[in-house]
Amino acid sequence: MKHPPLTSLGLSSACDVAIIGGGPAGSTAAALLAERGHRVILFDKARHPRFHIGESLLPANMPLFEKLGVADAVKAIGMEKWGAEFVSPWHDHTQSFEFAEAMDKSMPMAYQVRRAEFDEILIRNASRKNARVVEGCQVQDVEFLPDNAGVLVQARHDDGSAETVRARFLLDASGRDTFLANRFKAKRRNKKHASAAIYAHFAGAERHPGKAAGNITIFWFDHGWFWFIPLADGATSVGAVTWPYYLKTRGERSLEQFFNQTIAQCAPLSERLRHARLISPVEATGNYSYVCDRSHGNNYLLLGDAYAFIDPVFSSGVMLAMQSAFVGADTVDTCLRDPRKAAKALRKFDATMRIGPKAFSWFIYRVTNPTMRDMFMGPRNIFRVKEALLSVLAGDIFGTTPIRGPLLLFKALYYGTSLLNFRRTVQAWKMRKHNIQGADTTGAAAD
Ligand SMILES: Cc1cc2nc3c(=O)[nH]c(=O)nc-3n(C[C@H](O)[C@H](O)[C@H](O)COP(=O)(O)OP(=O)(O)OC[C@H]3O[C@@H](n4cnc5c(N)ncnc54)[C@H](O)[C@@H]3O)c2cc1C
Repeated sequence: MKHPPLTSLGLSSACDVAIIGGGPAGSTAAALLAERGHRVILFDKARHPRFHIGESLLPANMPLFEKLGVADAVKAIGMEKWGAEFVSPWHDHTQSFEFAEAMDKSMPMAYQVRRAEFDEILIRNASRKNARVVEGCQVQDVEFLPDNAGVLVQARHDDGSAETVRARFLLDASGRDTFLANRFKAKRRNKKHASAAIYAHFAGAERHPGKAAGNITIFWFDHGWFWFIPLADGATSVGAVTWPYYLKTRGERSLEQFFNQTIAQCAPLSERLRHARLISPVEATGNYSYVCDRSHGNNYLLLGDAYAFIDPVFSSGVMLAMQSAFVGADTVDTCLRDPRKAAKALRKFDATMRIGPKAFSWFIYRVTNPTMRDMFMGPRNIFRVKEALLSVLAGDIFGTTPIRGPLLLFKALYYGTSLLNFRRTVQAWKMRKHNIQGADTTGAAAD
């Protein structure tokens, strides 16, 4: 549909920074910028609390909560997560990792959260810090003004009324809606990692005793992997991330039937769900890894999932979204207060945005490979390799923790072992090629 130019519309208000989206990225950036005295308007098309998938957080989130002033509020709703467990049908044991064994011993735990509660804490925090938060209001169009004069943002409230705001800077934190990237055709689907997820909440799932009760469990199975995330109120989030070819086999089955029959293929997970019952609708999302070909432009930044989305096997999404908001807020602050330093700040922002997808993707591409699975299921701490791996799993990839050397060694060990098992490696490579085919042709994830 062709819109009239926004310049012809009446302005409702003006601000320094307009933000599209009140998930972890947008709400974090709004709070930080408002705290520094910028006039911030944040639009979210939803009203909070609202459901969102992505409930397992990382230890690297914890210092960010402290800085935002929400640590106590998150603690009150969170289930303590001290580590992760991997269960493999190709190994005779399970493997547990504790974050306390990572290189930096100061971040031993994280939380599992209901995102409705967690995201509400963050968005209310933004309001408290004096950002203007407008819920039930969808940004529909933006127009960048000539001569770096800022941007006009047109939004529509639930009641149908329109609002047009002039901002000096725009942050796109619209998540997987990728508002700006869609407009700029800047979104690049990741052909190397096509998959889809089916998920729901259960009551009565079996938990581990004691401190491990809140740990995430990852179960590998023939067609991908499952997550098992215990939440504080007794519910458990369970999801399957599968290859596209598998979703094509759904046929006429309802999503719920398909999900139950998928779970039945993983005996150790079925065992933990023996007495459990479904307490939410089964939902699905398809074919979802991507990265944008730019992280910023004149007067705008892309934050969180609006810039990149990677497979959730390492629970990295919320941490990367919040981290991008911290760096993004510094960048916008510099651009607005001292435009002479803008170019340098934007370069630094861009470099930081690339760190997360790169660090996690190397593992994600290989996590279903037999060599990698062996290394996860039997980790050894030669030259602190296991500690470095745990630091990545904890999300400790942006600071000064010296993980680089041990990770290089880990990668060398991976390639060396792959070569030693040449036949198995080639077979796995062929299988992976087959698995990722047909990613765009399945409609099975959509219900
Ligand atoms: C199946 C699955 C499992 C996952 N598991 C995990 C996990 O265990 N741990 C983890 O850390 N991450 C996980 N993630 C990823 C995580 O959910 C995201 O990375 C995270 O939510 C990104 O935050 P964000 O703020 O960038 O976007 P979002 O949280 O998606 O927030 C975007 C917001 O923008 C709003 N919005 C969108 N368009 C507009 C518009 N035009 N106008 C106004 N508002 C708009 C939306 O309403 C939404 O509130 C998972 C993701 C998937 C798909």
